[in-house]
Amino acid sequence: MKGVEEFAIECSILKVAVSEDMQNCSDEGIQIYGGMGFSADAPMEAAWRDARISRIYEGTNEINRMLAVGMLVKKAMKGHVNLLEPAMAVGNELTSIPSFDTPDFSEPLSEEMDMIKKLKKVFLMVAGSAVQKFGTELEQNQQLLLAASDILIEIYMAESAILRTQKNIARTSVEEQKEQIAMSQLYLYSAVKIIQNRAEEGISSFAEGDEQRMMLMGLKRFTKYINLPNIIELRNVVADKVTGENKYPFTKA
Ligand SMILES: Cc1cc2nc3c(=O)[nH]c(=O)nc-3n(C[C@H](O)[C@H](O)[C@H](O)COP(=O)(O)OP(=O)(O)OC[C@H]3O[C@@H](n4cnc5c(N)ncnc54)[C@H](O)[C@@H]3O)c2cc1C
Repeated sequence: MKGVEEFAIECSILKVAVSEDMQNCSDEGIQIYGGMGFSADAPMEAAWRDARISRIYEGTNEINRMLAVGMLVKKAMKGHVNLLEPAMAVGNELTSIPSFDTPDFSEPLSEEMDMIKKLKKVFLMVAGSAVQKFGTELEQNQQLLLAASDILIEIYMAESAILRTQKNIARTSVEEQKEQIAMSQLYLYSAVKIIQNRAEEGISSFAEGDEQRMMLMGLKRFTKYINLPNIIELRNVVADKVTGENKYPFTKA
């Protein structure tokens, strides 16, 4: 049971993320089938219904979202995870002058890993300030917990995709992982957009005036691409692979 408890946060994150990805995939599947997608004669209707229950059972996604952040905050309060010091460091960074150095992004996905580091600062900024403001009352601010949880989930999933792709590149080559690189970049791009929205909602719920302006500036700094990839081209890279093979082409790791 100790092992299960140790990874309970990751379990909640994965339950929410994967059940919603399944739902979105089957929904896109219905769209691809067009009118027939809506009919029980085509397989997508059942796929969508089967996916729908996963958002409800084994703890609804709303409850798992709140659990993920709630458990993390509890671990931090018990001293099992050090959130306070990194959160304070981000607080100090907000009032300091940003670095204007041009980083070296020559390694594949290194800019993306740099973005992940910045997104973690967004989580620390929002969750750290929320804990400071509300203390043990945080549990009552459920909408704020849900927003913080979406930030946590998106960071976890985007980082996992990038790390997995980096591993695959080391095992094979950049060329062989072209589509996986594109998918990781696309995932990160959509994660950044979700995080921008959810962090903005969270910040506006507990900060006003100068403090709010400073945190929103921090949010802008921590979600800014130095080189925004060509999003449409990335989608084309993935679509070309699927249409080229005329089947699901990503069964191999
Ligand atoms: C096909 C199927 C199989 C199942 N199998 C099992 C099983 O094997 N074992 C088992 O124990 N159970 C099983 N269940 C039960 C399932 O786990 C529950 O349906 C689920 O936990 C949700 O509980 P509920 O239906 O009482 O909804 P409620 O708890 O009443 O929730 C209703 C809605 O309100 C939301 N909500 C509730 N509280 C909050 C909150 N504080 N903030 C935000 N939103 C909130 C929920 O997310 C949900 O969307 C099954 C259910 C189904 C439909």
